[in-house]
Amino acid sequence: MSPILRTLGRATLAIGIGSFGLLGACSRSHDLDDAALRDADADSAEWLSYGRTYSEQRHSPLKQIDEASVSRLGLAWSVDMQTLRGLEATPLERDGVLYTTSAWSVVYAIDARTGKVLWRHDPGVPKDHAKFVCCDVVNRGVALYGDKVYVGTIDGRLVALDRKTGAPVWSVQTTPIDGPYAITGAPRIAGGKVVIGNAGSEYAVRGFLSAYQAETGDLAWRTYLVPGDPSKPFEQDALRRAAASWSGQWYKAGGGASPWDPIVYDPALDLVYVGTANANPWYPELRGDKEGDNLYASSIVAIRASTGEIVWHYQTTPGDSWDYDATQPITLADLVIDGRPRKVLMQPNKNAFLYVIDRETGKLISATPYASMTWATGIDSSGRPIVNPAARPTAMGAIVSPADYGAHNWNPTSFSPTTGLLYLAVTDGGVLLHVVDPKFKLNPNDRTMGLDPRYAGPLKAKRDSLAPLAKGRLVAWNPVTHREAWRVDHPGLRSGGTLSTAGNIVFQGRGDGSFAAYRATDGKLLWQYDAQVGIAAAPMTYAIDGVQYVAVLAAPPGYYLDPKIRLGPGRLLVFALDGKAALPPNPVRPATPIPPPTFTVKATPAEITEGGGLFGMYCRRCHNPDFNYVKSGSIPDLRRANEATHATFEQIVRGGARRTLGMPSFAKDISSDQVRMIEAYVLDQARQVSSVSRAAEGGH
Ligand code: CA
Repeated sequence: MSPILRTLGRATLAIGIGSFGLLGACSRSHDLDDAALRDADADSAEWLSYGRTYSEQRHSPLKQIDEASVSRLGLAWSVDMQTLRGLEATPLERDGVLYTTSAWSVVYAIDARTGKVLWRHDPGVPKDHAKFVCCDVVNRGVALYGDKVYVGTIDGRLVALDRKTGAPVWSVQTTPIDGPYAITGAPRIAGGKVVIGNAGSEYAVRGFLSAYQAETGDLAWRTYLVPGDPSKPFEQDALRRAAASWSGQWYKAGGGASPWDPIVYDPALDLVYVGTANANPWYPELRGDKEGDNLYASSIVAIRASTGEIVWHYQTTPGDSWDYDATQPITLADLVIDGRPRKVLMQPNKNAFLYVIDRETGKLISATPYASMTWATGIDSSGRPIVNPAARPTAMGAIVSPADYGAHNWNPTSFSPTTGLLYLAVTDGGVLLHVVDPKFKLNPNDRTMGLDPRYAGPLKAKRDSLAPLAKGRLVAWNPVTHREAWRVDHPGLRSGGTLSTAGNIVFQGRGDGSFAAYRATDGKLLWQYDAQVGIAAAPMTYAIDGVQYVAVLAAPPGYYLDPKIRLGPGRLLVFALDGKAALPPNPVRPATPIPPPTFTVKATPAEITEGGGLFGMYCRRCHNPDFNYVKSGSIPDLRRANEATHATFEQIVRGGARRTLGMPSFAKDISSDQVRMIEAYVLDQARQVSSVSRAAEGGH
């Protein structure tokens, strides 16, 4: 695999960070203003925004916990976050209070010394909006500004809360109320505005970024990331230019490109950087578009923070066929490259290139593979990826690396200006992609990827060859020499976000529940704690009264297919030196065997097969027996549905009888007769699984 794309000369790292504050610096009582956010680097004690500072380096100058003392680290206290769903937030800390979120966009304020819950705000998301979330009802955290706390909700609202009481101050619907949009990302503050994106590029959405006045909630600007219907005026010239990269009637499916995670602000340049999701549907053929680049999907886009104008873009995956969103973390740094100081941004993309880009101009500096990659063979002199034609999905199927879950995903990365290394979770993996349901019809009320989940043909065997490809690790990456400095191989596929500190430590959790400290310079394991449940979120650190704390949310996201992931209740874990708290035992036990059904639903073998296809199309996205939230009991395993549940099956599926629990009505999608076929399929599955387990028992 061609490692590099641009040869860079010998380079050194600039030390661009000002003097560090002292441990336990007095917390200030004045409201959090622009100056405080700009100077956050100098404040060692607090964690004021998603990535700690505007650069989002997630590197803390705190060093009470260092490579010598970390062996004394222990649990200080924990908080039950009252969910079995995924937790992905980074808590913020200000004036002795932690602000974080749980599943369903619920906000918590917690005493940062003791763990006492000060207030909790449940925005009351309608549970059936879960239908419009690809990957669990997660939230990545809040923003703080002035006297308020800001959160985006699963159903697309931006809500401002009073920081002291949690009482709502204002709330705006940022997305079309009847559209399949969601918000899982954290808002950011940029020049007195709250900037928020949205998710949904597995559905018929048109991605956009919005900025609201922090005090009032008035819309300041809105920037669409893909062009709309060309028969109507374009919102800005950049969208007119982008329209030339599309053909057909892309706007009917919205185009995708939702900016669902990174929003990073450089106040000196007045620019906000966002990463955009894949174009929609997943396959160019279904977008009516075999050759177009489909701007500004799968791109890093720089937007003028004061006006919303698109200033530059760099497209990481032109004409994407593989769900390669460019929504991985963006980190800003000032580096010396080829003897020149450069203001850069860095991103480990889902597509397995690690990008270093000049953040003033958008010019590519380097793009280097950091994980297994077959979709491209390199980058050409103009900065475009050289696509491997064999990686385009065909009827025969193509195994492609990275997989659709990415070489890296949303999990935050950290960058230490001392070591000059970027610390990130990496996953090698592959996915089998095959061309698409020829009968594909766009359903604006449902997913629009264009996959055929009923597919069970001869390619199925190929899927078995994917498992050995899947490997996970923690990597320390040098963005100047564009080389891996060290790696720690993990037993499972998925690991969490990272935190680096001036104590020469990198903290990271894993899907199997290990929470560990590694030496930042060489990756040596220094300390390890069993969190009892998987960790995907990033740790953060803060200090109060001379004590440094490290906090992390433990709970795996619901949809991962990693057998090493441990399930259990979501918790906030907070550590300090000589912490002696005990973690309550994990009450989630492995599921008991599925009992054989005691009754049948009348159906022919062909109808059972048809029911399996319908299950794949409509049910599996949540009720997949391999998913964490099904295994933990948060969402029912339908193979366990008893006779009483089957008696009301149609009322549940079509009538919306369990809407308040999160089960939407599929009355528009599934007929009564099709409900019967799904029931017959589910019962048939239960029968097969229970007879296998009975046979296994009989063998002992
Ligand atoms: Ca996507």
